[in-house]
Amino acid sequence: MLDFNNTEIAFSAKTDGELQNAKLLFSTIQYPWLVKCAKVASNIAIKIHFPLAWAVKPTLYKQFVGGETLQDCTKTIEHLKHFNVKSTLDFSAESEQTPDGIKATFEETMRSIDFAKGNPNLAYAVFKPSTITTDDLLAKASEKRGELSIEEVKQFREFRDRFMAFCQRAYDNDVRILVDAEDYCFQDAIDELTDEAMRKFNKKRAIVFATLQMYRHDRMPYLERIYKDAVEKNYIAGVKFVRGAYMEEERARAAKMGYPDPICKDKQATDDNYNAAVKYTVDHLDHFEMFMGTHNEESNHRLAKLLDEKGIAHNDPRIFFAQLLGMSDNISFNLAHEGYNVTKYVPYAKVNDVLPYLIRRAEENTSVAGQTGRELRMLRAEIARRKK
Ligand SMILES: Cc1cc2nc3c(=O)[nH]c(=O)nc-3n(C[C@H](O)[C@H](O)[C@H](O)COP(=O)(O)OP(=O)(O)OC[C@H]3O[C@@H](n4cnc5c(N)ncnc54)[C@H](O)[C@@H]3O)c2cc1C
Repeated sequence: MLDFNNTEIAFSAKTDGELQNAKLLFSTIQYPWLVKCAKVASNIAIKIHFPLAWAVKPTLYKQFVGGETLQDCTKTIEHLKHFNVKSTLDFSAESEQTPDGIKATFEETMRSIDFAKGNPNLAYAVFKPSTITTDDLLAKASEKRGELSIEEVKQFREFRDRFMAFCQRAYDNDVRILVDAEDYCFQDAIDELTDEAMRKFNKKRAIVFATLQMYRHDRMPYLERIYKDAVEKNYIAGVKFVRGAYMEEERARAAKMGYPDPICKDKQATDDNYNAAVKYTVDHLDHFEMFMGTHNEESNHRLAKLLDEKGIAHNDPRIFFAQLLGMSDNISFNLAHEGYNVTKYVPYAKVNDVLPYLIRRAEENTSVAGQTGRELRMLRAEIARRKK
């Protein structure tokens, strides 16, 4: 029976020493003031290229990152495989949006798509569209398409070429690829390209996956439009559901720019929206494949239950549960133990390049209600169980 409180299964992948380290780490990042100080320090370190590896590598990096390179992640991949969990390697460097930075990210993401080819332990490839262009261009292309200058039109065409090159390579390698969702002001341009790529590459199975942030109150109608389009044009839509990571920034931007808040009115409304999207997708699996990314226990329970009610096999290849490396192992490992398809996002990049990602994880663990408390409770319970 699925039980997210089963700490023996949840932490079967961790040695006693690793449990103690994780406990120390989560005890430390539960203090928002400490995370704020770390954020300021890391921003300065990035600006002046100060090496922080000595402090970050044995702590945050070890908990949340697979390594510096694809090859470095092999150990994590093998480790997760042992527990029936697949990896999704995510190049998480948030480098400057210069032509050189964009080129380097493009080439590394291509390598990650090749790395996944034919590897049954890698569930998906993934990319963040903003890392292969600039924020300014994405925002302008989404919000004021008609006002792009000739130079900007050229830059957008180059962005589109890079985007489609990822999808084409994924298709050629028979690897599924997730298009991460980002700021509201970028998303229209990203959705448009993702829809186009799905029509082109998802004829036989879902290769390209759109990400829907269900904290947005306009995402249910978008999901219904995707389904209608998939039926009409005869393809399999790939959909990845998350709640959304940028709520505070979105509300602040909407207030500043004077447009309606795109986010659901409260947490309950987001949860209802999320549940409705997952249910709708499972009810229409004739034209969908789904990736559910969440650390919310109830959402994971609901989907597991829904599959059982509908007589859908736990390992149906159309449905994946997903969490981030180093978080909510109680969900990932217990689901995998019950035979569900589970993948962990495994970020990789050099320490200084991945700092913004790590600070976001630390912030998330202080701000997401109950997350750190839950991790600590689980770790303490497992340490006590082993002592007995
Ligand atoms: C595998 C994976 C991939 C991810 N990929 C992406 C991605 O591509 N893009 C992205 O944006 N995020 C992504 N995320 C992060 C995700 O969007 C959430 O920020 C994070 O997972 C926390 O949500 P939850 O469902 O896990 O947990 P919960 O604790 O149940 O939900 C917290 C979330 O609820 C929402 N929320 C909280 N308070 C309110 C409120 N007052 N009103 C309205 N909504 C509220 C916010 O979205 C908040 O992040 C990913 C997460 C995972 C696990």
